[in-house]
Amino acid sequence: MSNLSYVNENTDAWQTYLAQIDRVAPYLGDLKNYIDTLKRPKRALIVDVPIVMDDGSIQHFEGYRVQHNLSRGPGKGGIRYHPDVDLNEVMALSAWMTIKTAVLNLPFGGAKGGVRVDPRKLSTRELERLTRRFTTEISPVIGPQQDIPAPDVGTNPNIMGWMMDTYSTQHGHTVTGVVTGKPVHLGGSLGRVRATGRGVFITGLQAAKKIGLSIENSKVAVQGFGNVGNEAAYLFSQAGAKVVAVQDHTGTIFNADGFDVKALQNYVEQHHGVAGFENSQKIDNEAFWDVEMDIFIPAALEGQITVERAERLSAKMVLEGANGPTYPSADDALLRRGVTVVPDVICNAGGVTVSYFEWVQDMASYFWSEDEINERLDKLMIQAIEDVWKTSEEKSCSLRTAAYILACERILKARKERGIFPG
Ligand code: NAD
Repeated sequence: MSNLSYVNENTDAWQTYLAQIDRVAPYLGDLKNYIDTLKRPKRALIVDVPIVMDDGSIQHFEGYRVQHNLSRGPGKGGIRYHPDVDLNEVMALSAWMTIKTAVLNLPFGGAKGGVRVDPRKLSTRELERLTRRFTTEISPVIGPQQDIPAPDVGTNPNIMGWMMDTYSTQHGHTVTGVVTGKPVHLGGSLGRVRATGRGVFITGLQAAKKIGLSIENSKVAVQGFGNVGNEAAYLFSQAGAKVVAVQDHTGTIFNADGFDVKALQNYVEQHHGVAGFENSQKIDNEAFWDVEMDIFIPAALEGQITVERAERLSAKMVLEGANGPTYPSADDALLRRGVTVVPDVICNAGGVTVSYFEWVQDMASYFWSEDEINERLDKLMIQAIEDVWKTSEEKSCSLRTAAYILACERILKARKERGIFPG
């Protein structure tokens, strides 16, 4: 339990993260002395974001940027626009970024930001004003060497373009490296938009090989059909799997023979949700968890897999595209039932890995081909899952704990070697 006064003890995401840290502590030897550094964010900024709406009225939104840990390099992490965003959620998301960048051995710390807003209710002009004002408010703490935002739920490359332009305008010159996930013609990287879904697929393939699960004709269910879920579903369908159930904020659709995922992507682009897709049966949202499946990909929000749902899941493998979708108690239930869980901190790290490539390319002003990017991404992801798998076998622990062992050792070694200022 945290003793930070501003932590709402009822908020699940931060509590989930703290429980994960408590589980890894016994494996850390002397580095355990430094573990408290991971149980609190280094810096948390709350900002007021007032904007003039299209009808002339003024509305205020609350925004956040949390830098959880900067021991290994600048902060890195997305910006979320969602009505449920709050400080506790952003703290947890920033902490998971600390772990994720360390598992992949990227030279970054962890950060995250967000605005408590439903972006679907804003016009494009209002969204631009919100983004520019939010960027201005957090600009004292961001920068290419300090903290580099990227897209997350509810944000996209266009929004990153506005953030880059706002920051650059304030600095009097173009600073492409201040955000990643930008449009390609603004210094973005080829392959970034699809990188997270690709990483889910690549780590999933490796895990499937290890447990002897054939992808051909396997049944896949996906929760969330946005940036992450749609690409992961597409790549699994291309590899011969059947995507039999998809759930998003508009409902749940089912087809025992598998969907035409390309057609579903086109449908969602036009209709902004999966509900009503042709050749699909609409099923109850709760019935989604009882669908017969081999692979489950949560790719929506955190806190989705409860113990009760974990007991019902027929999947042999869970690929965490979303951040924090599984409660610690549900993790235990899945482990007990022999379900392989590829944890978020490695499974969805494809996005931050190509964000790292984007930042490197911006710094060098030299850009790589998409093939080069995918090749480097696949190599890093495969190496990371191999390392995590080996650690989990050596220590007889879950893949999640193994990933945390590798990450926490790297972060806390950096903390120890840097020393505690002023000593
Ligand atoms: P997105 O906004 O593109 O898509 C989110 C999807 O979740 C949408 O299909 C939406 O309909 C669905 N959704 C929202 N509320 C839901 C609900 N209550 N029930 C079912 N579905 C619901 O977001 P994204 O970028 O795909 O992110 C999804 C998850 O992946 C998040 O947890 C995010 O933090 C994580 N993630 C994203 C990236 C990235 O590069 N975009 C990287 C790492 C992790």
